[in-house]
Amino acid sequence: MKIKIQDIEVNYNIFHRKVKYARLEIKNETLNIIMPHGVKDYNILIKKHEKWIYQKFSRINRLKIESETRKLDHSRSNDSFQEIVRDYVDRISRKMGLKVNRVTLRRMKTRWGSCSSLGNISINTRLKYLPKGLIKYVIHHEVCHLKVRKHDKQYWSLVSEEYPNYKKYEEELSIYWFLVKDLD
Ligand SMILES: [Zn+2]
Repeated sequence: MKIKIQDIEVNYNIFHRKVKYARLEIKNETLNIIMPHGVKDYNILIKKHEKWIYQKFSRINRLKIESETRKLDHSRSNDSFQEIVRDYVDRISRKMGLKVNRVTLRRMKTRWGSCSSLGNISINTRLKYLPKGLIKYVIHHEVCHLKVRKHDKQYWSLVSEEYPNYKKYEEELSIYWFLVKDLD
């Protein structure tokens, strides 16, 4: 289903779930409206969060357009990608004096990487199509999570010791996401 907010078209789905309060979330460029059973009127919720929805979807559209000017690198082999990842994990963790338990490369549907509380780092295999500088940044991002779990102020201040312009990198990764999200 679609609604229009000013000049932006928003795809949305409605879900009724066993929740106490209605809430909104955005996944795969779609607005999910999650409501308690028995509550029918979601227009109030949309009206209330119109500005937020508009801002989120403007950003999505802007990044999508921007992604058309980026290109994926299809020349890198799996072996070479694996080597690059292991090398960066080694170098970055050593430099920061942190210990990584295990590194796993796997296909991930919603993110570039993750880090478990046991010190295991997972890296999205789709990262192999991205410029080396971005691969390095993602690994730096995950290694920093060994020290600070959440994306809080302390976390970003740690990241910025090496990447003062980390926002630019995060934005670039969001742009590239549009190019890889439909790859097998
Ligand atoms: Zn993170």
